[in-house]
Amino acid sequence: LIADLLPIGVFANPATALEADQISFLCEKHGFIYERGKREKGAGVKAQPEIIEEPAPVAVEEEPEETLKERMPIITIMGHVDHGKTSLLDYIRRTRVVAGEAGGITQHIGAYTVEHNGQKLTFLDTPGHAIFTEMRARGADVTDIVVLVVAANDGIMPQTREAITHTKAAGKTVIVAVNKCDLPSADPVKARTGLMEEGLVPTDFGGDIECVNVSALTGEGVSDLLDLLLLQAEVLELKANPKANCRASIIEARMEQGKGSSATVIVQSGTLKVGMPFICGPYSGKVRTLFDDKGKAIKKVLPGMPAEVAGFVETPNVGDELVEMESERASRKLSEERQEELRASRLAQPRRSRMEDILAMMGDGSQKAQLKLYLKGDVQGSVEAIKKAILDIHSDKVECLFIGASAGPISESDVLLASSSDAIILGFNVKVESNAVRMLKREGVQVKLYSIVYELIDQVRDAMLGLLEPET
Ligand code: GDP
Repeated sequence: LIADLLPIGVFANPATALEADQISFLCEKHGFIYERGKREKGAGVKAQPEIIEEPAPVAVEEEPEETLKERMPIITIMGHVDHGKTSLLDYIRRTRVVAGEAGGITQHIGAYTVEHNGQKLTFLDTPGHAIFTEMRARGADVTDIVVLVVAANDGIMPQTREAITHTKAAGKTVIVAVNKCDLPSADPVKARTGLMEEGLVPTDFGGDIECVNVSALTGEGVSDLLDLLLLQAEVLELKANPKANCRASIIEARMEQGKGSSATVIVQSGTLKVGMPFICGPYSGKVRTLFDDKGKAIKKVLPGMPAEVAGFVETPNVGDELVEMESERASRKLSEERQEELRASRLAQPRRSRMEDILAMMGDGSQKAQLKLYLKGDVQGSVEAIKKAILDIHSDKVECLFIGASAGPISESDVLLASSSDAIILGFNVKVESNAVRMLKREGVQVKLYSIVYELIDQVRDAMLGLLEPET
């Protein structure tokens, strides 16, 4: 549903309360009828749309408030290369393994859980925004809080900016760890000033972004960081029903000779158990074994916890969802149906926004259509100038929204971000990196390259006025 909302410009997370028209849009898309019911009367009442359901292949259980239990937060670390993401993850892992298990060998399965002040937190083990955005593009948005690592001796760097863009686009809460504060050259105040320039105003400067000085080398401040993460988790009121139908997201998958396919999952709701039949993407399966992040065999996994699962018929994809099924028979049947659907959809091109049909997306004309753009230019100056010129174009029917605008060649990560927001990429005097070309084909994102400023701006204007001829 989160992915479905992106094309209409809504960056939702599981805690977002949707407007009636957004709920109605989702219902329509999935063949449900949305009746407004009593919602309008009680201000502050949570959206409880009455939905007339068609028979669904997978049983979805109701989750009344009282069955919801607190779950641990899931955290992703991002930041510029060499700013200390891996060191910080390692320090936290080394020093905070659940009491009694210290000294044991920790397994790298893609995520781990630590304990702080008697409460648990799960960290995704692959730092950086590539996996974060890839998962989001597939609609599997597991992260609750992002820790942005900024080295105090280096300040804001290009990948720090990229991470900020990705986090903002996903609407995530950010906590900044100003790292390497043990170095004599560290300047944590300068790092904060740099953050302000990027629109993240630290709390000690009167804003709402928590910043904490740390050293992944000495461990200074790490405990404060964990305190802040737990506090933030409390604010977010993260809850899940351990008795619901089990759903888990694939965050890593591997195929090993002799062992078959296995994957690391994070349970979103329900309890994952050995012997449970499931469907994952188009394939059926049954949980054969479960291991925790310390390599210990376990029988069940609760919401928020990561675990390594074996029992897949085929290696799943990162971002796929594993869903509990009533029986192996039901899961095999659904698998056949999904594989059939997949074959049919492979014949069709992915449906993505194109400049030429932006006006056609407008529907009944009651709302402005959104033209989402992702601009890459040769130098920052030209990027700023083009962005300003486009924002100056006036149209009653279309509004432009910049998902990103920066200098440099079009990279794989640009394509992923454009794809997850259904944006069109405009390139001015830039090349497309070779691995990004593959990604473009896979994601079906439109790219338009220009070398003359006026041509670019004229085409955007024509698109906004519905004058652009379809590409042949
Ligand atoms: P990543 O690329 O962001 O994952 O960065 P790494 O964790 O690999 O760290 C890059 C380098 O910085 C390594 O040589 C680390 O030892 C060093 N480093 C990381 N954190 C700190 C810190 O807090 N203090 C100091 N002095 N060095 C650090």
